[in-house]
Amino acid sequence: MGNSNRTQDDGGYATPGPIPQPIRNDGAGGPDYGPRDVLRDLENPDMLVPPKTDAGLLPNLRMSFSDTHMQLNHGGWSREITVRDLPIATTLAGVNMSLRPGGVRELHWHQQAEWAYMIGGAARLTSVDASGRNFIADVGQGDLWYFPAGLPHSIQALAGGCEFLLVFDDGSFSDLNTLSISDWFAHTPKDVLSANFGVPARSFDTIPAEQVYIFEDRVPGPLEQDRVVSPYGTVPSSFTHRLLAQPPLETSGGSVRIVDSSNFPVSKTVAAALVEIRPGAMREMHWHPNNDEWQYYLSGEGRMTVFGGNGKARTFNVRAGDVGYVPFAFGHYVQNTGKETMWFLEVFRSDRFADISLNQWMALTPRELVKDNLHVSSEVIDALHKEKRPVVKYPKK
Ligand code: MN
Ligand code: MN
Repeated sequence: MGNSNRTQDDGGYATPGPIPQPIRNDGAGGPDYGPRDVLRDLENPDMLVPPKTDAGLLPNLRMSFSDTHMQLNHGGWSREITVRDLPIATTLAGVNMSLRPGGVRELHWHQQAEWAYMIGGAARLTSVDASGRNFIADVGQGDLWYFPAGLPHSIQALAGGCEFLLVFDDGSFSDLNTLSISDWFAHTPKDVLSANFGVPARSFDTIPAEQVYIFEDRVPGPLEQDRVVSPYGTVPSSFTHRLLAQPPLETSGGSVRIVDSSNFPVSKTVAAALVEIRPGAMREMHWHPNNDEWQYYLSGEGRMTVFGGNGKARTFNVRAGDVGYVPFAFGHYVQNTGKETMWFLEVFRSDRFADISLNQWMALTPRELVKDNLHVSSEVIDALHKEKRPVVKYPKK
């Protein structure tokens, strides 16, 4: 950025360092003398100076986990982005959680299905289905899990702790509003607990007085030691999936791994793509014909422009730790504007992943029709490709 944006000549800031100004290179705009948040402006160069093609009304489509409330507990923390934080995001809600070694997200259940991506570290999961079939498994970095709505489960960090992203198939979900085992015990008379479990009421003298949510515990031993044999066996379809072990679709600018109910059968309500965009590349212009897209940026920085029809387009800067959102069928692309590789998740409330590539659509349409519609030369038509290339490189100038 250099010092080219200093504005002393304009009577603006005299503070040293690069101060960006809302002035486009065509001269539009003017200096911002403040009050302003320069650190945020530095993070949002394409919102401070949007491309000329941005226009019209589109709601906010981005929210940073750094702008949310941190729920701190002994044993770990959580924070969430729901429809309360990002009102457009009605289909899915996200929770970012970290557990210290041995830390437990307690035994609980909820009305929504839970899809998750392990960002780092490892954890042990447990669950039981309605037929008494159980599931106990360890997950590591890049692994997914899916707990169908209503099924009880728990998450415990192994040695080294862990951090993960949870996605729920309802934007109004809150992880602070689930059904927890400790909560139910605390709100059940002791004589009822006594009758239910066939032990004296005094056995429950030391139960937690309220919902535990997250607690500290010892790091569990090897998986074999935690085996519980159910007379009904284990769940018929695994609740976990090794996404990073899946061979990616490689293209010139990066890679894509698609996961939905076709290769992770239990995941009936959530589909996703893990996208890698290398520096100087972009997730191509496309849209999704099935549902809204909920995004989580795992690394890097870039910008996304969303096209909403009837002259509407808006650009958002995105970076690691952000959630982005694209309404159903709205056109969009994501550019890596940084120096490191950008990884992000596209998540959908759907049983399948589906996208429409602008390029492929045009390539599979009569060329004269496309040419006459767009007034473009044969050069453009000749460069179209009939196969999808989800992540493309910019051509050399
Ligand atoms: Mn849960
Ligand atoms: Mn997309």
